[in-house]
Amino acid sequence: MTQKIVILGGGYGGLLSAITARKYFTPEEASITLVNRIPSHQIVTELHRLAAGNISEQAIALPLEKLLHGKSVNLIVQNVESFTPDQNKVLLQDGRTLEYDMLVVALGSETAFFGIPGLEENSFTLKSVRDANRIRAHIEAKLQAYAQTHNQSDATFVIGGGGLTGVEMVGELADELPAMCRKLGIDYSEISLYCVEAGPSILAGFPADLVDRARTSLEKRGVTFLTGVPITEVKGSTVYLKDGNTLETGTLVWSGGVQGNPIVAASGIETNRGRATVNEFLQSTSHANIFLAGDSAVVMMAEEGRPYPPTAQLAWQMGELVGYNMFAYVRQASMQKFEPVNSGTLASLGRKDGIATIGASKTKLKGFPASAMKEASNIRYLSHINGLFTLVH
Ligand code: NAD
Repeated sequence: MTQKIVILGGGYGGLLSAITARKYFTPEEASITLVNRIPSHQIVTELHRLAAGNISEQAIALPLEKLLHGKSVNLIVQNVESFTPDQNKVLLQDGRTLEYDMLVVALGSETAFFGIPGLEENSFTLKSVRDANRIRAHIEAKLQAYAQTHNQSDATFVIGGGGLTGVEMVGELADELPAMCRKLGIDYSEISLYCVEAGPSILAGFPADLVDRARTSLEKRGVTFLTGVPITEVKGSTVYLKDGNTLETGTLVWSGGVQGNPIVAASGIETNRGRATVNEFLQSTSHANIFLAGDSAVVMMAEEGRPYPPTAQLAWQMGELVGYNMFAYVRQASMQKFEPVNSGTLASLGRKDGIATIGASKTKLKGFPASAMKEASNIRYLSHINGLFTLVH
């Protein structure tokens, strides 16, 4: 009997599970259908560069049709409305229903606003190419407005959240804003660029010397860090901080954290804080024919008793494992355990600077070697998914 495999999501987890499953299953053994809300696979690790205008959309929005060409994977570009694990059905927003024998849920995460009043309505997020394009266009418009009116809030840019997303975003802006200002005859010293972090330090989890390095490097390029001060409310252009101060800004980018996709929680599969719980084979703990890849799942680290972080490198490895484990499951062979390789954490601080901890030994890198590693890891990923598909930058 031909197995019907449906994969929800065309990000790192979904794409890699489709490509890997197809390596094992012949088209006669399994049909594979991948559903994604947009026609492209997005290299979300580079969104901050698109938002600041330092990379082309073409370089980070790769057409799924091309990536899947010749791989016998049906592509459906449509929003997933819901899935019902007890009936083995997926409902799409256009009313279509898909039936499956095995389902891969790889719907990613979404921005968390933590119930902070006015935040969602008055901020930009950085989760997609569309978001990044909106930020880029908005920043240009604000600078143009400032050149005309000299209204300081148009020249004030605030990043909320000093995790990796926030720091990479502020680093890119610190690099790009001076040239954008020059073009419009604005003196860059008139620009205020803030990164506001609730915790005592930016980049929680990084070694202190690398955090200092990041902070100093960015401060030299005009970034002001406000740490230990949560954003508590946003009203129009006023950002309220817990210490009683306010910032007036026409541009707030919120990078304060992520949460599970609500479709997963609503489906009825077993979840923990909105993310699906899985066994060591990345199978849903409540439904054996559902596999999880990427941020939709919560996977506990055996030794440390806390979940793996929701990162691209893990989503990619989860996708590959799930692709193989579905095959093993059908064959009633041994499935493989999720034992990811941690290649480290790389943070860019603009085009020419970066910090990184590499491998299990957490070897530290800073400056050009860290930036070069980040570029190399992107190239490695692209060549991995591309096969023969040639990228045009
Ligand atoms: P995060 O949760 O890692 O960081 C969010 C930051 O926002 C935290 O430092 C938090 O203290 C702060 N924050 C929360 N509420 C706040 C408030 N009210 N006011 C001010 N600050 C507030 O989120 P992220 O940076 O988007 O990262 C999400 C995941 O993606 C992480 O696992 C991260 O490792 C990963 N990621 C990795 C890279 C990379 O490897 N280069 C880049 C981006 C994201």
